[in-house]
Amino acid sequence: RFITFEGIDGSGKSTQAHALSEALRAEGRDVLLTREPGGSEGAEEIRRLLVQGDAARWSAETEILLFTAARRDHLEKTIEPALIAGRTVISDRFADSTRIYQGAARADLRGVVDQLHDTMIGTEPHLTLIIDVEPAVALARGLARNSGEDRFEDLGLAFQTRLATGFRALAREYPDRCHLIDGNRSVHAIQAEIRTLVRGALA
Ligand code: C5P
Repeated sequence: RFITFEGIDGSGKSTQAHALSEALRAEGRDVLLTREPGGSEGAEEIRRLLVQGDAARWSAETEILLFTAARRDHLEKTIEPALIAGRTVISDRFADSTRIYQGAARADLRGVVDQLHDTMIGTEPHLTLIIDVEPAVALARGLARNSGEDRFEDLGLAFQTRLATGFRALAREYPDRCHLIDGNRSVHAIQAEIRTLVRGALA
């Protein structure tokens, strides 16, 4: 099974992805926890190209190509082999991030994102957990954490709000696999809801 976590920067999705993988491992499942951009040697190299430099380094179109190239390598080298081996794969971000960041929030390029996804990726997760938090809260968390090396993390409240709106719309677009999780609660409460959803999906 392939499970993805999505959400805006500072939503707590990485904490939740880690907690879920630990909980499933404690139950004896063979879990691969991975992330995007990155998750394979080549994709981690592309990640460095993406996050370094100033905000104007890449156009939205070039970003789409780089994220898709990274995803293709991640899929070939990491995700598919693990799924074929019967492992549970949990990814911190996947194609939905590109649909929303480059396809809706940064530019209006959803058609391009979908075309490239269809020809080069083709895989969708079985279950997607979208952590939905107030952009102001997420932004405060994100800025507190920013090391200064990630050019994406200072894009401001208006951008984070467009992202949050985009992810909520995505949950309505793919109701079968996407679950919107209220991330304005305690880490523990969020974790409990996710465990219940995943237990149902893996049963
Ligand atoms: O989730 P993580 O913080 O590792 O993502 C790295 C950076 O890449 C983030 O600042 C995120 O906003 C950005 N990103 C993006 N478009 C994507 C995926 C991630 O701008 N499709």
